[in-house]
Formats: sequence, structure tokens, C-alpha cells
Amino acid sequence: MRTEPARRPTRVAERVRDALRPVSPAARDALARRWAELPEHVRTPAQTLGRFGVECEGTHGVFPRCNFSCTPCYHSSDANRVRVDGPHTVTEVESQMAFFGARAPHAHAQLIGGEVTLLDPDDHAAALLAMRRHGREPMSFSHGDIDLDYLERLVTGPDGRRRLARLSFAVHIDSTMRGRRGQRRVERETDLTPERVRVAAMFARLRERGVRTFLAHNVTVTPENVDQIPDLLAGARRLGYGMFSFQPAAFVGDDRRWRSDYSLLDPDRVWARIEEGAGARLPYRVLQVGDLRCNRTAWGFYTGERWVSLLDEDDPRDLAARDALFTHLGGFHFSAPAPLVALRLGVVALSHPRLVGTALAWARRTVRRAGGWRRVLTERPRLTTFVMHRFMDAAQVAPAWALLEAGEVATDPEVREVQERLAACSYLMAHPEDGRTVPACVQHGVLDPVENLDLAQRLPLPRRRGAAAA
Ligand code: SF4
Repeated sequence: MRTEPARRPTRVAERVRDALRPVSPAARDALARRWAELPEHVRTPAQTLGRFGVECEGTHGVFPRCNFSCTPCYHSSDANRVRVDGPHTVTEVESQMAFFGARAPHAHAQLIGGEVTLLDPDDHAAALLAMRRHGREPMSFSHGDIDLDYLERLVTGPDGRRRLARLSFAVHIDSTMRGRRGQRRVERETDLTPERVRVAAMFARLRERGVRTFLAHNVTVTPENVDQIPDLLAGARRLGYGMFSFQPAAFVGDDRRWRSDYSLLDPDRVWARIEEGAGARLPYRVLQVGDLRCNRTAWGFYTGERWVSLLDEDDPRDLAARDALFTHLGGFHFSAPAPLVALRLGVVALSHPRLVGTALAWARRTVRRAGGWRRVLTERPRLTTFVMHRFMDAAQVAPAWALLEAGEVATDPEVREVQERLAACSYLMAHPEDGRTVPACVQHGVLDPVENLDLAQRLPLPRRRGAAAA
């Protein structure tokens, strides 16, 4: 008679122990590898890469086509000759995310290409679910010119059941864009305030219907709209966007869409305009993401009209709290199911009781800076992050990348600066076929034109009836 093998209690105990481990060995290894890869100049105490997380990841070659014509546009000129194809998208996303998943067990990843909502909602959902299967927390990048019906069909399957309990979108809404329904072309950023209100309201409706959402707002910055940033933010910062991300334009992508001299966009000038719009000084050195010449990020929250940084860069106690956070929660999977997150945080608190005191003291100081408990309790805090991400010109990236590929350090200081930034890149795209990742600047400035040409052959647009008859 065959007997069932007895379930070994040790196996169950191991599973429970692994599930409750605040940071998995795989996550710790990924952080250590990331830190080791970083160039010396960005290994600062404030550096988040390799200490708190690995990087931000993005897709490429999945759906290059877009139904807008923005000026500038970082897509290569062949992008719109590629058909949007759901099965191709899902297969590519699966392959790229599996590659990322083998490098690090979890990370944030952008479902990005042309316009994501040209995908059928079922294909879009399948891509997001594939990303989640590989431990990625996905964010869809869209121009936002969509209706609630699309979002409903995205989160709800054809069987009427909810397939996405949470949804993150980054919507790009600014005056450089052409093609929005009812506003094909606008002159001023404030002309788009009603559209920002409409999009935010759609996501609020989703939240009312039980979907957890995160909404970010992207803006391309040009010499024409840089001084309009304060007005843009004044009209948008109370609407529920959790992040405002500004990308000073670069000479990358379709050169038929380059309109002005983007070299005029001095980073300090752009950041000053963002601070003016935020109504606060935005400290970006206390938490660093890669190279400061690429990224400035300020994490904080609003209580009423007052924006407060999560960390006071001038207070050594806040810097010590930051260091403790990196030491004990670096690699923590905050997007894991909420009960697991709570249990794991409990394990951290029990194992390091002094950390609880550090956290409480930090919370007290932060509430004080926010105006006190009464204010925080009555003016519901709104987490709001400000980002400036400065892509580089394709003409700068190509020679620097060619030298990096050849294992050479440039002697020209300008090319070397580009190499340093590429080496510290925080935004990577996967190439499983080559067994490597590349910075998004390299993807858009060097690889996209060839990739899109190839995709245009493999996924040609359907022939128009008139053309077929001719
Ligand atoms: S994509 Fe380019 S600008 Fe962005 S972090 Fe990487 S190297 Fe820097």
C-alpha cells in the first residue's frame, strides 16, 4: 500500500520564515550587485540605487505607434509605421520582464512605448499582469486622451470580474502635444487645466469603485513652456496627481519635430520654476536617484497649500533616519500584499526596537514641519513627488555609448560626462537577446531607429483599401 509522504513541518516553517523575511536574499543580492555596478561618483550616502531599490525599468519595441504628433517627440520617424499588435506586445513584455525578474525579484516598471491605450484593453491588461507575474509594479504611460470606459474595461475582464485591483498611470498632458480631442493644439499650459481635471476625475471614479490607483503627470519642458510651469502646477497640484515629472526636451527621436533650441533649458532654471509652482523649496540632494545631472527628485506631501519634504536635508537626525531606512528596509517589497507588508514591518520592528523610536521621532518632527497634528489631521496630507528627468541628445549619447561598448573611457570631458551619466543610469530597458540592459537614452537615441525599422517590416500597417486597389 502506498502511503502519502508526511508533510515535513520544517518545510512549512521554512516557508513561513521566508514569507516573513523583511528583505529576501535575492533582493539583497540584487541591491549589492547594483551598488557594485555604480560608478564611484554616485555612491553617496543619499544614493537610493543599490541601497533602497535597483532602478526603474521600461519596455521598448512593444507598441511604438502613437496617435498624437507632439513637438518634440522622442520616437523615431518609423515608429508610426508599426502596427499596434496585442500578441506581439504581450510576448515582448513577458520576455523583457522575465529578464528583469532574473536580475532583481521586484522593481517598478513602465509599460511605455507609443500610446498604450491604442492597445485593446484585454491586451493592455495581459501586459500588466505579465509584468506583475515577474515581480514588477507596472505603470502605463499614456497621453490621457481616453475615457472612463477604457479604464473600466482595462480593470474588468470580459467575464465582468475585476482583474486589476490597482492601476498606475502616468499621463502626459502639456502644450507641446498635438491631437487631443477637442483641443488639437493649445498655446498655453493653463488651456489644458480642464483636461487635467477630467483625467484626475476619471481615476477618482475608479477609486470610488474599489480600484487602488496612482496617477502621475508628465510634462515635456521646452523654452516656450518653461515659464508656464508655475501656472500649470497652480492649476493641477490639488487634483490628486501623486507625482509631477518634468522632462526638459532633448534632441532625440524624430528630428522633423524639433522646434527650438533645447540647450537653453538650464536645469537650475527649470527646477526653480518647478519650485515656484510647488510653492516650496524642493530639496533633491537628500535622496538621490542615479546621477543628479540626470535626475532630481523631491519626495514630500501637501497639507493644504504647504508642501513638506519627507526628509529635512539640514537636520542630521533626518539624515540618520534615512540611513536607518536604507540599512533595514533597503530592498523591502512595499508593493507586496498589504497584510504581508504589515507583518514584515512588524518583524523589522521586533528585531530592531530602536528603529521604532527613530521612526516615531522622525514622524513627530515631520508633523511639526507640516504645521502640527491638528493641521495634519484636518487637512488630509497628499503625497506629492516632484521629478525632473533630463534625457540627453542622441548626438551626445551615440559617441559616448560607442566608446563604452569598446570599453574605452573618453578623453573629451563632455563625452566622459555622458559616459558617467550612462554608467549611473536609473532607467533601464532590457535586451534579453543580448543578455543585457541599456539606458533609456541609448534605447531612444541609438537603438530605437533600427528597432522600429525592423518592426515596421514585421508588423506593417494594414493596407488601406484604396492603396490595395491601386
Ligand atoms: S535614461 Fe538617460 S537621462 Fe535618464 S537616467 Fe539614464 S542616462 Fe540619465
